[in-house]
Amino acid sequence: MRRTLPGAALALALVVAGCGGQGPPEAAPSPASSAAPPSAAPGGCPAERAEPDPDRPVVDLEFSLDEDLRTVTGTETVVFTPDLPTGELVFRLVPNGPDATAVGNQLTVDAVRGADVVSGGYESAQAAAPGGLYVVTLGRTLAAGESTEVELDSTLRLGSGGFERLGTAEDVSWFASGAPLLTWEPGVGWARDPFVEVLGETASSPVSDTTITVEAPAALTVLMTGDQGEPTRERGGRRTWTSHEPVARDVSVAVGAFTTAELAVDGVRVTAGVLPGTGRDPARLARVTGEAIELLADRFGPFPYDTLTVPWLPDYGGGIEYPSSILLASTQDVVLLHEVAHMWFYGMVGDSQFRDPWLDEAFASYAESVTGDPPTAQVARELALPGDVGGSMAEFPDDRRYVQAVYGKGGAMLLTARERAGAAAFDAALRCYADATAWQIATPADVAAALADLPAALAVLQEAGALDPEDLAT
Ligand SMILES: [Zn+2]
Repeated sequence: MRRTLPGAALALALVVAGCGGQGPPEAAPSPASSAAPPSAAPGGCPAERAEPDPDRPVVDLEFSLDEDLRTVTGTETVVFTPDLPTGELVFRLVPNGPDATAVGNQLTVDAVRGADVVSGGYESAQAAAPGGLYVVTLGRTLAAGESTEVELDSTLRLGSGGFERLGTAEDVSWFASGAPLLTWEPGVGWARDPFVEVLGETASSPVSDTTITVEAPAALTVLMTGDQGEPTRERGGRRTWTSHEPVARDVSVAVGAFTTAELAVDGVRVTAGVLPGTGRDPARLARVTGEAIELLADRFGPFPYDTLTVPWLPDYGGGIEYPSSILLASTQDVVLLHEVAHMWFYGMVGDSQFRDPWLDEAFASYAESVTGDPPTAQVARELALPGDVGGSMAEFPDDRRYVQAVYGKGGAMLLTARERAGAAAFDAALRCYADATAWQIATPADVAAALADLPAALAVLQEAGALDPEDLAT
């Protein structure tokens, strides 16, 4: 879900290793019982992109960034309508990952309310204190299609800056995944996957109709997920910013002394922001982002959102994608291209990032080739790397082997499949896959179904360990 260049990844690996602490994560839950409906008949292709579920969650997030620029108080309101019976709501506290204590991040839930709410409590999920999951127990079992409303108060502490989804640095604070994240996987149920030491995401979350409100010191500018309006007038040294994103799986917010530039490309409003004293040009960043959108839309279909904001953070050697927003912490254009590609693969075509990280990372790595295919020898070398592309986050012993197998080998696998199947047919099949699984949580079986008429491509994916025989059976 994030991309680092190899050198940066290795440097980060050393940092993570230095944190020490936890034992190996538990084995991955089996995805074999996934009840997600097949999204496309084998060889079939939808006439148009799938629409989001009209019964998806409605999420309202209110954040207030304290004058200390390190404390965020939040209130989250969720209207949740399951498609399977359930008597609880499970939220993932992403900021409490294994390295949270070392860097000073922490998300706590202070109160929970709701007509059906009985209690709430933490579960560890191998995360830092107070836990990686927060489980709200309801007084009744919701039937499929029945709704409940739950409200949570939270406090988020932002630690020191680094290549993380939340932190602080000079002139900027940022908090992505800064609120309890609903982990419902439609057709499957709650995702309670453990956190892992490996540098990658482990969340699975549905698209939600999301409204975000951020109150912050008036001198600072907010750049976040969603279509932002103008801030309110200054009052008591504070301003309030609001945005709306009808299909957000998660939310990123950056608050800083940004200078911004905007442009429209393919009907998408791009907003780029740079920090003072960096010598960076927001207009150039907006332009390069727009070029990435055009190149990727040519290959994968229309850009999934109406807006894209790109706050440029200090150079921590990578980028982290969020729905319609990117935390850019690199000076490399290829990192930006990779994160923009995630708008299709992760943002629109969702996946369980714990169970099937290749469905977003191998695809985003492959998408880097829209500027030109890498040398054949390099692709062959990466395809020969060890490890199964389709491994879960629990199956990679360290960052290096995860990045090699999922990003390097995974990207090379898709390039090779395209070459063997023929570029036109392969591109058409991937568009079918993206349109069929839009706004859902895709599975490897969905990829197999989209490639059903391209046996040469399927063989490459099987050989690289991305697809199992059972993925092909559906
Ligand atoms: Zn990525």
